[in-house]
Amino acid sequence: MANSKFEYVRHFELSNTTYLLPNTYIIIRIDGRSFHRFSTLHSFTKPNDPRALSLMNAAAVSVFHDLGGEVVSIAYGVSDEFSFILRKECNLFDRRESKLVSTVVSIFTAYYISLWPKYFPSQPLQRPLPTFDGRAEAEKELMGTLAKDKNEILWSRFGINYNNEEEMFRKGSVVYRNYGAVPESSADDKTDEKDDDSEKKEMAAETKPTISPAEAQKGKSRSQQKREAKKLAKAEVVIEHVDIIKDTFWQKRPWILH
Ligand code: ATP
Ligand code: ATP
Ligand code: MG
Ligand code: MG
Ligand code: MG
Ligand code: MG
Ligand code: MG
Repeated sequence: MANSKFEYVRHFELSNTTYLLPNTYIIIRIDGRSFHRFSTLHSFTKPNDPRALSLMNAAAVSVFHDLGGEVVSIAYGVSDEFSFILRKECNLFDRRESKLVSTVVSIFTAYYISLWPKYFPSQPLQRPLPTFDGRAEAEKELMGTLAKDKNEILWSRFGINYNNEEEMFRKGSVVYRNYGAVPESSADDKTDEKDDDSEKKEMAAETKPTISPAEAQKGKSRSQQKREAKKLAKAEVVIEHVDIIKDTFWQKRPWILH
């Protein structure tokens, strides 16, 4: 195509490509298309069908695994929506917005459909098949602010419904790689009645030292770094229903937004 009369097409494509702002968190949010109708058609229990939420969570975990390595640092889901936060340093597809969004949407949809029978064994998938839309935000306003503020800005948009009873319904689902020493019975979901000071003390007492992937790489040989990066990428992806607005969630998992 070079130097041909079609060269102009290339210019158009290039000028039309959005590269997301470097060194900022990329948020990719997917949302089920017409899920009000889809949920009725498939007899979801209202307002919160746990099978449907678990299927969303499983599809989100598959996005972590499929993209591999350290692409997604954390994801958060409610209803027919999931938000994937990519690392600030993420350079996948040179941070081209359309490649990132279309890939995440496609992986999520593929796994949602293929995992359907596992979560709805007696409910065959009917047409119109479930599909998702997606959009990206690279947040300038997250730059230069404290991690705490970042989290507040980040999560305050996702409209958590605190009025329902079950944890998964009330707090949504958070998905991340568990690199470190989060206590088994993680106390951060039970600190509602405690003040900030007691939370900090509790942390110091319970949390073993945790290395972030970035820290783990300091002063290591290249092959050592590669081995450890592989190991870290293999860390278990976990799903929890905890309050991610609280500081303790982030303090106990410093590798997430390192
Ligand atoms: P759009 O295509 O614009 O997103 P939508 O019908 O998907 O339209 P949303 O605002 O995304 O509208 O709302 C999703 C709807 O899907 C909810 O209002 C609810 O009816 C249904 N839904 C999603 N998840 C569940 C669930 N786990 N249990 C019961 N209903 C659900
Ligand atoms: P990327 O993720 O960067 O797109 P890719 O492996 O998909 O990587 P492409 O440039 O998109 O690379 O090329 C698609 C490749 O898929 C082809 O080179 C070919 O090997 C294979 N392929 C696609 N369609 C067919 C087909 N119908 N028959 C055989 N091979 C195919
Ligand atoms: Mg919508
Ligand atoms: Mg929807
Ligand atoms: Mg929605
Ligand atoms: Mg191709
Ligand atoms: Mg290809």
